[in-house]
Amino acid sequence: MIDNEEKIKVTKKKKKKRRRKENFVIITAVFLALFVFLGGKYVLSVMYQNKTQIQNKNNENEQKNTSDNNSEGKQNTTEKEPEKQDSNGIDFSESGSHIKSADSYAYDTAEIRDYIMSKKEYTGKKMVFLTFDDGVTPGITDKVLDILKEKQVPATFFIVGKTLNDQAKPYLERELKEGHGIAIHSFSHDYNKLYPNRVPNASVIKDEAEKTLSRLKELLGDKFNTGVWRYPGGHMSWKGLENAGNGDEVLKSLGLEWIDWNSLSGDAEPQKVRPTNKEEMLKYVKTSLSYWKQQNVAVVLMHDSQGKNLTVETLPSIIDYFKSNGYEFGILK
Ligand SMILES: [Zn+2]
Repeated sequence: MIDNEEKIKVTKKKKKKRRRKENFVIITAVFLALFVFLGGKYVLSVMYQNKTQIQNKNNENEQKNTSDNNSEGKQNTTEKEPEKQDSNGIDFSESGSHIKSADSYAYDTAEIRDYIMSKKEYTGKKMVFLTFDDGVTPGITDKVLDILKEKQVPATFFIVGKTLNDQAKPYLERELKEGHGIAIHSFSHDYNKLYPNRVPNASVIKDEAEKTLSRLKELLGDKFNTGVWRYPGGHMSWKGLENAGNGDEVLKSLGLEWIDWNSLSGDAEPQKVRPTNKEEMLKYVKTSLSYWKQQNVAVVLMHDSQGKNLTVETLPSIIDYFKSNGYEFGILK
């Protein structure tokens, strides 16, 4: 009995032991499987992370490249802008003789010339073009500019090249920035050079136009240009300018159109007829215009040269006269 009992105990123990062994194997296997599974998952996730990191990096690089391109683009535009704007900060119009915002009141010189000479019929609104010849003149030009600014009207300045020393630069810049037009009135203003023995010299006229234009470009930058010219003494004073190969044709080859006037303040007339007070000067402006057939387009000749103080004094009433008679103010281009 005892033996049997012993035997049964021993087999029970053995069975227990085997079961433990089996459990151990199962648990180990489960752990192993879990380990492998989790490990694999970890490896995969690490791989995936790396992959996304690489992808993200690539995306970042792409973005960087595009933003680099953008900033390059921006750089290009900022690099181009100074070219366009020019060193003086002047926003030139396409014609180059005035700023962009003056475009709305800038008129074609040849067309206005045809109107005042009645070569073309004019049916538009009343227009006046104030013009100042012979500057730049410190002490006069700035006073003229002050009045134009106060009265809020534009004008066209016909510059003489020989006045363009380094002091002239701020006056020219002011003329442009305040919405006025710049034109050429020869370099020397010397009748003996331009019209020796009263005969126009085409090559001198051409040289003087080119010389003045290049001096203006030196002071105002390469974006400056002008298509407007006035002959010293006026086209009407010289014979032959319209002939083939002469002044008009030579100027046209440089992109310049000439214009005279049909009204004047008389400030450069011989002393015996020159106005001596404001009333006389204003009367001169009105009377001179009245001789012309076309009075709805007025091109008024005045001077911003040395000693033209009466012109400065009378200018406000000249402006008021045209304003009160319904004229709009323009510049020539
Ligand atoms: Zn002149």
